[in-house]
Amino acid sequence: MLNQLKQRKGLSQEDADYREYLQKGFEGERKFDEILERLSKDSLIIQDLRLEANRQIFQIDTLVITRNNLLVYEIKNFQGEYSFHDNELKTHPYKRVIMNPLTQFNRTCTLLNILLDKIGVYIPLNGKLVFVNDSFILYQKTEHPDILLPQQIERHISQLNRFSEPFTSAQKELGDKLLYLHLTEDRYIQVPEYTFEELKKEALCPQCRLNLKIKNRRTVYCPSCGFSAFNTRIISEEVQAYVLLFPEQKLTTAVIYDWCGALFPKRTIQRVLATNYTESGTRKGTHYLHNSFCR
Ligand SMILES: [Zn+2]
Repeated sequence: MLNQLKQRKGLSQEDADYREYLQKGFEGERKFDEILERLSKDSLIIQDLRLEANRQIFQIDTLVITRNNLLVYEIKNFQGEYSFHDNELKTHPYKRVIMNPLTQFNRTCTLLNILLDKIGVYIPLNGKLVFVNDSFILYQKTEHPDILLPQQIERHISQLNRFSEPFTSAQKELGDKLLYLHLTEDRYIQVPEYTFEELKKEALCPQCRLNLKIKNRRTVYCPSCGFSAFNTRIISEEVQAYVLLFPEQKLTTAVIYDWCGALFPKRTIQRVLATNYTESGTRKGTHYLHNSFCR
């Protein structure tokens, strides 16, 4: 995965925006920690838990273990005005689309569920995407049940306290289990943030990682090492690379067409996808399910 990124992005470039983003995130988490101190002592709180399920690493900003459920909190320290419609978060009023933090949040919950299942723990999982910054304003038609806004945090905490039940040894046991599974720095490699837009769109030679060129209707070749292969083989390798980097995104003919730098005809891509993946959706909006590559 890192190789895919190195090829398409270049890892060495420093990113001041990203560092600022991390710093802001850190401040947000600290702020939420302070708020959680008002939570009754019957809850067990674990911060910055890093776990693995399905060979994917995920991080939980704050996990609260109560007697009856597990609460996952993903903390965001966004400032300013945003709007949320059709699962898209945009700045307001200029409508720049922001990476939807709910996607990340849902991924965390899904992977935690898989992990709990694996270790034989059956406890309801709830959680919230928390916006902690008082200057954060969100315009939405209906309130999203997973989003907790700054002015709702107090009420949320007192509600938890109202329904809290005495601490049990089972809670402690579960906490110990999760801490035992927590990954330390040396057990994982940090993967940098990336988006589809910023990565290079190209089909690469499997031997020397340089750009492939069209040879004839069915084959491509590498001008540098002479490698040649059927389009279908290269397409299916590029699909695997794409799925590895963007497991959450819809797999469509159009997206793979872009991903390969418009090198292959759409109908060939469509054929590869239809052969190897399960079709889903209407004819116009077909996308493919990639269960076979879940890891
Ligand atoms: Zn080559």
